[in-house]
Amino acid sequence: MTELRIDFAACDGHGACTDLLPDLLVADDWGFPAVRGGGRRAVVPDGLLARAREAERLCPVLALRLGSSRG
Ligand code: SF4
Repeated sequence: MTELRIDFAACDGHGACTDLLPDLLVADDWGFPAVRGGGRRAVVPDGLLARAREAERLCPVLALRLGSSRG
């Protein structure tokens, strides 16, 4: 299982990730991402992996990381 993790300390609220992954992330009133369902990590379905990789690549402050879930 793949997870998308957000480094909220690094995030500048540019919004690229919420635009690319509206099924996983939602922007708060200030433009910062929040994981739908809460928490700091979103489980990425296989069908959204390509978009998640794109979001990770495009984040201007490298605040997104894809990695394996520990279960
Ligand atoms: S793209 Fe990066 S900086 Fe922009 S809101 Fe998402 S995590 Fe934050």
